[in-house]
Formats: sequence, C-alpha cells, structure tokens
Amino acid sequence: MAAKRDYYEVLGVPRTATEEEIKKAYRKLALQYHPDRNPGDKEAEEKFKEIAEAYAVLSDPEKRQRYDRFGHAGVSGSGSGFGGFGFEDFDLTDALRTFMEEGFGFDFGEFFGGGSRRRGRTQRQQRGSDLQIKLKLSLEEIASGVTKKIKIKKYVRCDECRGSGASPNSQPTTCPVCRGSGEIRQVSQSIFGQFVNIRTCHQCHGEGRIISDPCPVCRGEGRVMGERVIEVHIPAGVASGNYIPLRGEGHVGRKGGPAGDLIVFIEEKKHPIFERHGDDVLMVLPISFPQAVLGDTVEVPTLTGRARLNIAPGTQSGKILRMRNKGIPHLHGSGIGDQLVQIEVYVPTKLTGEEKKKIAELKEMDSLKPRKGQHKNIFERLRETFNI
Ligand SMILES: [Zn+2]
Ligand SMILES: [Zn+2]
Repeated sequence: MAAKRDYYEVLGVPRTATEEEIKKAYRKLALQYHPDRNPGDKEAEEKFKEIAEAYAVLSDPEKRQRYDRFGHAGVSGSGSGFGGFGFEDFDLTDALRTFMEEGFGFDFGEFFGGGSRRRGRTQRQQRGSDLQIKLKLSLEEIASGVTKKIKIKKYVRCDECRGSGASPNSQPTTCPVCRGSGEIRQVSQSIFGQFVNIRTCHQCHGEGRIISDPCPVCRGEGRVMGERVIEVHIPAGVASGNYIPLRGEGHVGRKGGPAGDLIVFIEEKKHPIFERHGDDVLMVLPISFPQAVLGDTVEVPTLTGRARLNIAPGTQSGKILRMRNKGIPHLHGSGIGDQLVQIEVYVPTKLTGEEKKKIAELKEMDSLKPRKGQHKNIFERLRETFNI
C-alpha cells in the first residue's frame, strides 16, 4: 500500500481549518471526483476515496485530534491501539456512503452498489428499549454478595405469532408502495445528475413489509406485556450508584426485534446500626460505667453475625476500637474493610433509691473525679476520635 498523503493536503485546507471550511473543501472535491462524473476513470475513483477518507477523519473532532497528535497511526488499523477505525478497508462503498450521509442528495448509488445500503436498512429491526430498575440491598447483603431474583414487567415475544406480528396462518407481504425497501424515492434531474429525495414509506412505516392479517394476541406488535423473573448476581462490595447491565434482558423489540438491556442500579438501604464509610462500617457501642472502668469482653453485632470485642480496663468514652476485616470487601481488588466501634459510656437516668445512695457514695471518691489537664480543645478531640 502506498504511503498515505496528509489528510489536510488531500482536502487542500490548512491545519487550522474550521469544520465549515473542511466540509466545503470536501464537498467541492467530492463532486469533482465523483465516479459518476468520471466514469471508468480509476484515478478519479482513487482520489474520491482518498477525499472521503480524509473527510471522515477531519470532520470528526475526536478523530481529528488523534490524527493531529499521532498522524495516520492514530486513526488507522487495529494495531494502533486506538480501537482501529479500519481505514485500510475504506472502500468505494464507504466513500459513497460518506458522500450520501452528508446530505448532498445526489444519488449515484444506483450504479455503485447503493442498493445494498437500502436492503440493509430494511432488514434493520427495531431494538427494544432498555429497562432500568433499582435494587435495594442491605449492608449485610452487600458485605457478603448476593443473588437476587427480581420480578420484572416488560415486553416479551408474543408466543402466538412467534414475534412476527402476523396471524399464525398468514405471512407478511412485501409493501406494494415501496416494494420492500421501506423508503420512497423521488427523483429529479439536476446538473450533477439525479437529485433524489428519500422519505420513509408511509404505508409500511419503513418496515418494507405489511401485515394484512395481524396476530390477534399482540395486534401485530409481535410482543406483549409479560412478567419475567430474572436472577442477578451481585458481587460483594457494591455501593449506591453502581449498576449491573444485563444484556438482552430489557424490552423485546417490535416484530421480532432484539431485546434491549436491563440495567440494575444498586441502592443501599439505611442500616439501623451501621453507617458505611468507604468499605469500613461504623457503630456506637454503649457500655456501663463499671465495664469501662474494669474492662470486659462483650458481644457486638457485625455484618456477618455476632463477634466478641475486648474492652480494656480504663477505656474512655468516645474511644474507637477497630475490628479488623469485619467491614465490607473491596469491590476491586482483595481485602476487606474494618468495623469501627465507638465506645460510649452509658449514663443511667432511672435509678431506685438504693442505687442513688450507692452512686452518691461514689461521688466522694477522689479517683473518680476527672484529673486536671484533661480539658481538651474540642477540634483536637474530634481529630483524635475520627482520625482526620
Ligand atoms: Zn402475536
Ligand atoms: Zn412501504
């Protein structure tokens, strides 16, 4: 393959050309070298392809940017690492399509395989629309991962007509107005050749086929509202806003068209005890004054069941104890968050007369009085407590 010419040079525009200038240059050259005006001229055909290829790149802001930075390597071939636009294969059909898509309205397709383009359009079935659902999950479900069965109302294929929309004993017929192409072409002459106006066929709405005897169940739609139960596997560690796309689980298209997708949006339920912070979970644990003073081993709830927690003698109210790996698994990569337990010394409000007497005795004990120098700046305390 010969080395490619610079796209700007091909179109004869400066590198600073505006979109409008590029379009104008392309238009002029494409009309000049169009195969229909140069029948049998191989050189003109090559030129026409070259122009169309240059235009396809320079008229697309993203491709143009890549071309500006990396040259031809940025926009061609699969080996470039850019997803490959495949311009190695930019053939005459592509060039003609580019020409047509620009809305020039000149139809030369009759002579250069444009017919296949129309067939392609007729066969293009309507894809069903996507469905979105919210799935509420508890923190426990998020911590362990879960498989959920969801009941979904959606369009499903009509069994009566197997999605065709035609009554079981009948066949769809080719549309007599457009003869199956799905479009109506009005041709007039201009100095450049035929001027063609293409509209969607009003008789068949572009489908190319007519169902004279529609299926009584779906009234010719080929699909009916139905209910389906779908299983969704949710990995551990997901969070609100994450979504799981399920290909082909959305609405089925009309008249046998492929189904859209189902997109499951994750929503985290509020937990009565735990607050999520990244993959850590936080909770407050009230303990009694004697437990704080003497120390104790207590049972605390975790997302995967109860676990034991040691409270050292002399634990201050507000202290945060870390229970390693009792949080939520990281969605990406290995590892598990922690559970952070903030201790709160419980102060009773209802006491019997006997109890009050005992507390009054404690009041006089010197060791129970807060020591001097324990006054703290409140923000200092918050920083210590929350590690910020
Ligand atoms: Zn049907
Ligand atoms: Zn038609």
